Formats: sequence, structure tokens, C-alpha cells
Amino acid sequence: MTRELLKSRQALPLELKETLSSIKIKEYYHRMSGKVYISFSGGKDSTVLLHLVRRYFPNVEAVFSDTGLEFPEIKNFVKTTSNVTWVKPIMPFTEVIKKYGYPVISKDVAQKVHEIRTTKSDKLRNKRLYGDEKGNGKISEKWKILIDAPFKTSHNCCNILKKNPIKKFEKHSGKSPIVGTMTEESTLRTTAYLQKGCNSFEGNRAMSTPIAFWTEKDIWAYIKKYNLEYSDIYNKGYDRTGCVFCMFGCHLEKGENRFQKLERTHPKLHNYCINKLGIKEVLDYIGVSYTTKKSTIQKYFSFDSRYVEESELDNLNNSDIDEFYNYIIKAA
Ligand code: SF4
Repeated sequence: MTRELLKSRQALPLELKETLSSIKIKEYYHRMSGKVYISFSGGKDSTVLLHLVRRYFPNVEAVFSDTGLEFPEIKNFVKTTSNVTWVKPIMPFTEVIKKYGYPVISKDVAQKVHEIRTTKSDKLRNKRLYGDEKGNGKISEKWKILIDAPFKTSHNCCNILKKNPIKKFEKHSGKSPIVGTMTEESTLRTTAYLQKGCNSFEGNRAMSTPIAFWTEKDIWAYIKKYNLEYSDIYNKGYDRTGCVFCMFGCHLEKGENRFQKLERTHPKLHNYCINKLGIKEVLDYIGVSYTTKKSTIQKYFSFDSRYVEESELDNLNNSDIDEFYNYIIKAA
């Protein structure tokens, strides 16, 4: 597969994308003798995938990985979908962070910090700190601060909460996955698609990614075209779903970040993760804010024994809020 071919597939009209994807689904289904399942996250992409697959094979089982960190709106939506098997990890997130550490910055950085702090090998430690002969494999200077952090950092979370329960399901059922990932989501996914295309039968794990060449625009167009039900989380200003408490990538978010948004949309969950799971300490350490401007204003006034109703702030427009907030920051 070449980049040009991927680009030409991405440029196809929706109808032709549906046709091409259905050819790939049928090819995979028959080659695997029907021993396939839909990897279903409850998000919009896998909702489209599920509909597309079941147009041709209505009895294909879907599998939802219940990490314990999904939005309630996602779980509620999954409950309304037929023929979905729920798989769960054997260790909850609370134990994962206690035993291994927090998922923070990126899988790569978290792994390097974890290795530096735990390895008994001087060679590996030196490689992670200073790089090999060519300078490869070392942790970035910026995130060396995590080595001495008062909390643990680890890359193990995804393996324990997501990958292991799925592996167990696959081993037990003998089924192979159909996954709704798209190349536009990451370079890693683009590279994988360029190497393997939609269907891969090599190695010991077959996999189909039949909508890999679709775009987010196609997903919404398909939902509209077939009038599909989807999770209510998208009506609350979220365009990506996933583990609510994950800190991978949160330091890169511009504008309102995921934790500030959570405070606005799900205040109880926000309070639980910030104050009960110790995420406050981690975010403070890496300099990521977890509170919104409105609540900062409220806290400022409550500090002064005055109480400002949120509804009073709702009457202000964004530039008023910004002005107010900047005034407080300067005054603090
Ligand atoms: S996405 Fe983040 S929180 Fe979720 S399982 Fe992976 S590392 Fe853990």
C-alpha cells in the first residue's frame, strides 16, 4: 500500500467507501470462517463499524472492554446495543496506579521513567538516561523531572486494563477482531495501514481495520445517512472518548483540557479523579491545570466569604469570563 493509494481511498465519496469496506469485511469474514468479533468501544467510530458489519453479518458478536474508566454515557449506550460481550480486567485502575504507577505524558515516556526507576541493569538505566552510542533510546530532557516525582509512572495500564482481557477473550473464543481505527488518528496507525492494508492475516493475530481510510467527516455523514443512535457523550462537547482519567497526552491539549472539561460536564467524576485517585498531585507536578476559569472565579470569591452562583457566571460571555479570570490571576 502506498501513501498515494491511501490518499485516493480517503478522497472517495462515502458510498464508494462503504462498498470498499464491505468487500474487505466479507473477505476477512470468509477467510476467518466467520470466527470474528467487532471491537466495540461505544464510541462513534465503532458504532459505525458495528452497523456496517452487521448489515452483512447480523450475528457477529461485539466485544466491549470495560476498563472501569469509561464515561457513564458510553456504558449506558453499550447497554442498549445487542449481542455485546463485556470483558473486564482482573485488576482495577486504583490498584494499577498503586502497584505500577500513573499513565502520564505518553506510553514511551512513562515506560522510560518506569525503567529508570526500577531496572537493576546499569546498561538499561544509562541508555534511558543518556541514550546508546547513537544517542537513541533516552528519555527527553523535559520529562526527566518525572524520575524523582513523588508518585510512580508506568506504561502497564493499557496492558492490564485493555489488552489482557481482550487477549483472554480471543484465546477462549478463537475469534479475531474487526477494529474501527482510522489512519487520520495517528502516524502509528498510518504506518500500520501502509504496511498491512485493511486486512492482515500474517503473524499469530489476524486483524481487520475496514474503515481505516475513512475520516471523521465520513463517520458523522454515515451516522446521519442511516440515522444511527450514538452515545450521548458527543452531545456534551466531546469529540473523542476513552478512559476518563487517562493522562496520556493531556499536557498537549490547547484551550479547555480534558480535566477542565470534565469538571464542567461531570463534576462528581472530576472530584473523584482529582482528589481521590491522586491525579491532582500528578497534574500539579507536570503543570497541567484541572480546573476551569469559572470555578477559579467562584473559588476566588468564596475565599473572600462571598458566594457566586454558577448561574450568575453563565450570564457572562467568554470575553467577560476571560477578563474576570485574568484580573484574578493578576491579583493573586
Ligand atoms: S488509555 Fe490510559 S487509562 Fe486507559 S487503559 Fe490505556 S493507559 Fe490506562
